[in-house]
Amino acid sequence: MRCPNCGAPTVVFTIPEAVLDAMPETRPGAALCTRCLTVTPVDEPPDETPDWTAVHETFPTDDEAAATVGALLALVDSLALYRSEIEEIARHAESLGVDVMLVLDRLAADDGVDPHFDIDRRRAQLEQLLE
Ligand SMILES: [Zn+2]
Repeated sequence: MRCPNCGAPTVVFTIPEAVLDAMPETRPGAALCTRCLTVTPVDEPPDETPDWTAVHETFPTDDEAAATVGALLALVDSLALYRSEIEEIARHAESLGVDVMLVLDRLAADDGVDPHFDIDRRRAQLEQLLE
């Protein structure tokens, strides 16, 4: 599947059950763009574990942890709207051992990634939210 925003390849994944309730879209899967980080809801995600390094090497190797970061990226540009949902997802990622701030840092620092949102600004807001 190609990104509807920029046409780059995507990584299609299953939304972890633990954060499904926090997602405004009730669809079970999502496609994360490897270039602009747009997340598109998907009805039928594949069973196999996606190659998260196709997005970035900073993604956790654990599939649930990586997919939780993917779910977070789906909402992070709507931080004002989904504060509690984003906090819930970020806390779940942290409970799986993910340093969410570090992941966002590395994504922001990489020229190969060109986020469709202002990642530095969102990162700062998220940091405040999680304090
Ligand atoms: Zn894209």
